[in-house]
Amino acid sequence: MNTKIVTVHDPAQELSTLKEAAEILRTGGLVVFPTETVYGLGGNGLDADAAKKIYAAKGRPSDNPLILHLATPEDAEKYAYTSELYYRLARAFMPGPLTVVLPKREIVPTSATGGLETVALRCPSHPVAHKLIELAGLPIAAPSANISGKPSPTCAEHVREDLSGKVDMIIDGGECDIGLESTIVSVSGNSLTLLRPGGITYDALCMVAEHVTVADAVLHKLAENERPLSPGMKYRHYAPKAPVVLLKGEDARVLSFLLKEQKTKNCAILCYDEELAHLKQNNLISVGKKDDIAAQAKCLFRALREADATDAEIIYAHLPPTDGLGLALYNRMIRAAAHTIREID
Ligand code: AMP
Ligand code: MG
Repeated sequence: MNTKIVTVHDPAQELSTLKEAAEILRTGGLVVFPTETVYGLGGNGLDADAAKKIYAAKGRPSDNPLILHLATPEDAEKYAYTSELYYRLARAFMPGPLTVVLPKREIVPTSATGGLETVALRCPSHPVAHKLIELAGLPIAAPSANISGKPSPTCAEHVREDLSGKVDMIIDGGECDIGLESTIVSVSGNSLTLLRPGGITYDALCMVAEHVTVADAVLHKLAENERPLSPGMKYRHYAPKAPVVLLKGEDARVLSFLLKEQKTKNCAILCYDEELAHLKQNNLISVGKKDDIAAQAKCLFRALREADATDAEIIYAHLPPTDGLGLALYNRMIRAAAHTIREID
């Protein structure tokens, strides 16, 4: 398949390109588009064949459900059974990086929901994503636009590496703002379960809902036979070829550990800006300042791809904190590291 690559930064300037992309979606094709979280691989969410094409292009297991992307929170009425809490969440966080899981209506094919009777819905705030969904006049099923098992793409270059020749169009809209996938919650009465942490934090959710429970799989490794509430959590994700080890300990001790390791091993290191001058430059990848979790979140997936492209035998990174946006970063990093944490003392 010939993949058309276009650049759109301002939807008003490039309306005809977006109309062409919307037409591809309406006629059963696949379009990759930028969102504020990561790039999405979009297809018509009401078309079982389009869902099949998405799974095939990504190499994704078909029991791992897709998120439907909507132009407005009210569109949820057509596809799901909403509730008062849904609208409170919508007023607080939509459009934005929040996905809400609700009981689905008949019109949504189970081939898009991994066989589940629930559906995940989100309204992206990225202007290109928003305009594309509006022009298509459809809910757009869009998982992250990476090959299954690779880090989610945060720029069009990463999408090209993974999906050239497998989709009809890629819309390059520059770098994604947040860089980690959306927060996912399921709603039950007045309670929320946090299934996947993202740009909307646990604390922010607690301002809107009376009870917020964090699903086990967010922080802990599941037992072999355990079924997570969010099917995606059971798959090994974001994992480079070399093993990733997360280091926990006082800054100075971790730094001297890394210096020693660099002498004896071929290691790649995801380091803080503050450490750059102290370490050997070989396979050294800076992820931002120590206290700037947003910057670290934004470049994590790029850094993992970079580390994976080296010949390193082991990849070291810092264990992030679990508060605020740190929880989302922690969740992605422990999965990249297959839960390997080394305490340095
Ligand atoms: P991605 O689109 O790649 O960000 O992944 C979407 C993730 O959303 C899936 O891996 C699931 O874990 C989660 N998800 C989607 N739909 C549902 C649902 N109906 N119930 C629970 N989790 C869902
Ligand atoms: Mg994904």
